[in-house]
Amino acid sequence: MKILIINSGSSSIKYQLIDMKKNEALASGLVERIGEKQSHISHKILIAEKSYQKMVYQEPIPDHYQGLRKIVALLMNPEKGVITNKAEISAVGHRVVHGGENFQSPVIITEQIKDAIKANIPLAPLHNPPNLIGIEVAQSIFPQAPQVAVFDTAFHQTIPKKAFLYALPYKLYKDERVRRYGFHGTSHAYVAEKAASCLGQSLKTLNLITIHLGNGASMAAIKNGQCIDTSMGMTPLEGLVMGTRSGDIDPAIPFYLADYLGMSLQDINTLLNKESGLKGICGINDMREVLKKYEKNDHLAKIAIEVYCYRIKKYIGAYWAALGHLDAIVFTAGIGENSHLIRGFCCEGLEELGIEIDKVKNQTAQKGICHINTSKSKVSILVIPTNEELRIARETLKVIQSGSFEEGVH
Ligand code: ADP
Repeated sequence: MKILIINSGSSSIKYQLIDMKKNEALASGLVERIGEKQSHISHKILIAEKSYQKMVYQEPIPDHYQGLRKIVALLMNPEKGVITNKAEISAVGHRVVHGGENFQSPVIITEQIKDAIKANIPLAPLHNPPNLIGIEVAQSIFPQAPQVAVFDTAFHQTIPKKAFLYALPYKLYKDERVRRYGFHGTSHAYVAEKAASCLGQSLKTLNLITIHLGNGASMAAIKNGQCIDTSMGMTPLEGLVMGTRSGDIDPAIPFYLADYLGMSLQDINTLLNKESGLKGICGINDMREVLKKYEKNDHLAKIAIEVYCYRIKKYIGAYWAALGHLDAIVFTAGIGENSHLIRGFCCEGLEELGIEIDKVKNQTAQKGICHINTSKSKVSILVIPTNEELRIARETLKVIQSGSFEEGVH
């Protein structure tokens, strides 16, 4: 069985065609700059086990409908295609950013579900509208295939009120839905399940801290398999220091910026989301480049890394306290999977909490799943590559097999 995964952004469509028997992507890619004069398409196909051939195209793609048609044409290309007929695609799984409080699990998309996703637009004005466009174009191109929505927020819906409620007037929660939702749920859930299988235990008996460090970054505290807290909030701006996002700041800073620097709300929004984080401190948002500068003793790169890791370490302490007992810490995503330096700084000095990283294992960790704690460490420290698309595909399969059309709407 083959499932197509779509992550539709405002001017891009990210996709993967997954073979569910092999648990492997047959093709994947990204259509970018939709609506511009020249769109950019990168497309990869599986040519041998774990070996992909990459192709790049430049051509105008006026809208998402044409973007998805192009993807289908590439998948069915007579020479380099991976399917011969679009009916081979049994289902389409959509990444949907914000499910609000309506969705705790994935659902088959009906008109009612689309209305619920629309109703959550005020909570994710940049993400839910292009997610809906992706759903509609996929429905028109694959009318025969069930379409499933998998929400980024769903995994965090088990967070108790004491952790999701802000100390604001309660009315703002009741009437305006102001609360912590959390994001990257698919990734946290995926690595948590992987951690359980590599520790040989049931997820239901494990307490974990999962640390997703990509361009965006977030952490989750998972107790007996259920998420009890997460660092992103009502929006993805809260929590850790990210590539260009500030993460936690004093909420009074925007007033200061407005009063004393005359910045508008829009300016402040751009500043906190696009000009802050690593980029704000040292001018660069890409961690690989920041690390290169760090190695050349660049002062600001050093400070940026210190601030970045200190914030993570504080959250490890906070989540350790929230969990009461910790079995494992999991590092994942671009930075978590690849930078031993960052992993090392985040765990430094936590021995009293039972967290002891093994310097050699950490430094020599290869691609794939690695244990990087010492044999004495009470807490396992794992590096686990995330695979959000595979989890979306598995969730899609589960939903279509159970045939639950409206389950999950609350
Ligand atoms: P996204 O959130 O876009 O999915 P990724 O998970 O791909 O992001 O992570 C992107 C981040 O990972 C970037 O900051 C990038 O510099 C960083 N990264 C990728 N490879 C490495 C590496 N080898 N060492 C350090 N950082 C890396």
